[in-house]
Amino acid sequence: MGVIDVTRRGFFKFGGTALAGSTLAALGFDPQPALAQVRPFKLARTTETRNTCPYCSVSCGVIMYSIGDRSRNARSEIIHIEGDPDHPVNRGTLCPKGAGLLDFVRSPTRTQYPMYRGPGERQFRRVSWDWAMERIATLMKEDRDRNFIDRIDNGTTVNRWLSTGMLAASATTNETAFLTYKIVRSMGMVVFDNQARV
Ligand code: SF4
Repeated sequence: MGVIDVTRRGFFKFGGTALAGSTLAALGFDPQPALAQVRPFKLARTTETRNTCPYCSVSCGVIMYSIGDRSRNARSEIIHIEGDPDHPVNRGTLCPKGAGLLDFVRSPTRTQYPMYRGPGERQFRRVSWDWAMERIATLMKEDRDRNFIDRIDNGTTVNRWLSTGMLAASATTNETAFLTYKIVRSMGMVVFDNQARV
């Protein structure tokens, strides 16, 4: 009888496959079609949504893939996020922070709504967007009315408001950035910066 030339790894692989195959065959199943199946592409039934990485001022483009039939009361779930190959900033790449965006999206501590903690209160509580916008607008107006400077001592018109500042996001379109600038400056606000410099 000849000697079979086989490595240790090959021996175990061959033995395991043969054992699994013969067991299934003994039970009346043919394993070949199952073994030949191509695994379904996990993103095949997902919906693609383009967005911008929220972490830093580079503002890389991402594609978020979600499942759910988008019917009225159904809640979609994001199952995968990757760099957008068509985005001019990152062309499909993401740094490790951006590559971990799915954990950020699913984090139970992620702030999803406006939260407010009033004077003397110990806890933040959820408020509506309307309430938050109204509150911000009211406080801005009060502060501007109190502190707006239209002229300085020598009579020069300055129209400036120094006691409130604005930090704008960099993950916006040029049009949004232009409008943000116009609104801030039209109120006389001088203290104005952008996330891109932070
Ligand atoms: S993927 Fe990285 S480099 Fe790009 S915006 Fe996000 S944090 Fe910044």
